[in-house]
Amino acid sequence: MDVMEALVNAGAVDDGSHGNHYVYKSKKHGPAYINMDMLFPNVEVMDQVCAGLIEPFLRGFDTVVGAATGGIPLAVLSGYLSGARYALWADKDGDDFAFSRAGFGDVLAGRQVLIVEDLLTTGGTVMKVASQIRQHDGEVVGISCVCNRAGMTSMQLGVPLLRSLVNVNFEAHLPEHCQQCVEGVPIVTDVGHGDTFARSNPDYPGKFRTLLS
Ligand SMILES: [Zn+2]
Repeated sequence: MDVMEALVNAGAVDDGSHGNHYVYKSKKHGPAYINMDMLFPNVEVMDQVCAGLIEPFLRGFDTVVGAATGGIPLAVLSGYLSGARYALWADKDGDDFAFSRAGFGDVLAGRQVLIVEDLLTTGGTVMKVASQIRQHDGEVVGISCVCNRAGMTSMQLGVPLLRSLVNVNFEAHLPEHCQQCVEGVPIVTDVGHGDTFARSNPDYPGKFRTLLS
């Protein structure tokens, strides 16, 4: 099973290429879905995801850093799987991030650091974390993210290398403008808010389906 399939099966990510039909909290419909909270408790999928995160960077780093909170389990497991010397995280500090826990900042000097991230949208979080790593004299070798949902590039983020397991391009439409509704694509009811739609539209001609079993 590849990482994408595992993420879809866990209900965490669907890049929109699987012909699924989701209902979002906004009541809009679309083919893609992201809910990283479905990923973190799933040990088997986390194992596959972290193996995928470190693979393009192997032997190029000795420290893994994430941003609280989603980056914490990713950093720790990626560090373990890669044999890194250190795995740590930056905590939220107002609008910024900081290595505020005792000893965290001190280990970064001279280290080659891989940043791991669950969801890349504007890149603001990882750029703040990268800046903090450099302030502690660590070298950022790259960023590895589970899902890049806005087409961010390494140049935009100011790092040598960016790798993403999944690229998602979101498009969402109100039900009355939804092409999938016109085509009668079954609506997913156990991921997202399709169950709410089903209660108020039980006669939807395309019918309903579940993804998680
Ligand atoms: Zn629809």
